Amino acid sequence: MHVTEERTIITRSYSQLSEWAQCGLKYRLHRIDRVERLPAPWLATGLAFHRTVELYETSGGMPPDAAVDVFIAEFDRELLAIEQRTTYPRHLWLYGGRGGVEADIERRRAQGPDMIRAYIDATLTSPVEVYELPDGSPAVEVPFVLPLWETETAVVRLVGAVDLVYVTRAGSVRVRDHKTGAKEPVGNRQLGIYGLAVEALFGEVVTEGDYYMAKKGAATPPIPLSGYTPEVMHAEFQALETALAEGVFLANPGEHCRACDVKMHCPIFQMKGPT
Ligand code: SF4
Repeated sequence: MHVTEERTIITRSYSQLSEWAQCGLKYRLHRIDRVERLPAPWLATGLAFHRTVELYETSGGMPPDAAVDVFIAEFDRELLAIEQRTTYPRHLWLYGGRGGVEADIERRRAQGPDMIRAYIDATLTSPVEVYELPDGSPAVEVPFVLPLWETETAVVRLVGAVDLVYVTRAGSVRVRDHKTGAKEPVGNRQLGIYGLAVEALFGEVVTEGDYYMAKKGAATPPIPLSGYTPEVMHAEFQALETALAEGVFLANPGEHCRACDVKMHCPIFQMKGPT
C-alpha cells in the first residue's frame, strides 16, 4: 500500500484472495501478524521452473541441456536464498514425499531436469503458438494491473502476472498457469482473472484457459472461463476487503494444514497436531 497526495493506493492479488478463501487464520498470521513462515523445497522448484520457462520462451527456444542448466542454477540459488532468510533449521521445513527434507530436496533437484525436458518436448510438438505481445515479444509472465474500485480515500487495484498466453490452431486466445505441484487446481478463479487481464490489456476475449502440470508434462483440458466475469471478480475482492476491514479471519482447518507454512503459529494446529 502507498499513499499519493490525494488517495491511498491499495494493491490486491490473486494469492491474497486465494489464501483468505482457503483459511482466514492463515491469511491473518501471514499478512497481518507477519509471523515467520516455514520454508519448503517446493518453493525453489516453482521459482526455478517459472524462471527457466520464461527464459526459454523469451530467448526463442534454447537447447534442452542449456535450459536444464538454468533450472539447476536457479533451484540452487533459490534454496540458498531461502536458507539465508529463514531462522528455521532444515529439519523443521515443510516437505513432500517420504524421507524428510533432505530427500525431498534431492528428489526435486533430480526431477527438475525431467520437467524442463518435458516442457520443451510439449512446446515443440504442440499445435498452439505463444501469443505475441504488441512489441513482438512472447506473452510469458505478462504483468497486469486491473482497476477494482475507487473511493474518496483509496484506489484499489489488482496486480499480477499471467504465466502464458497462447493461441490455438483455431485462433482462440487462451491463458495458462504453470503448476509444479502434483494436484490440479480446482475452479477457474486464477485463470478467470488472467482472462480478464488479457482482455483489458489487449482487447482479446478469453473464454478458456488451462493449467500446465509440469510433473505430468501436459496441460489440463481447457477450462471454461466465461462464468468468471468482472462482476464475479469484483464481488470476490469486495468480500476480501470487507473481511479485512471487519477483521473476519475464520480458521478453516483441513488437509491443507499439513502444508501450511504458518502452522507453527496456529493455535488450532498446535492443539490438534497434524491432520
Ligand atoms: S494450520 Fe490450518 S487452520 Fe491453522 S492457519 Fe494453517 S491452514 Fe489455517
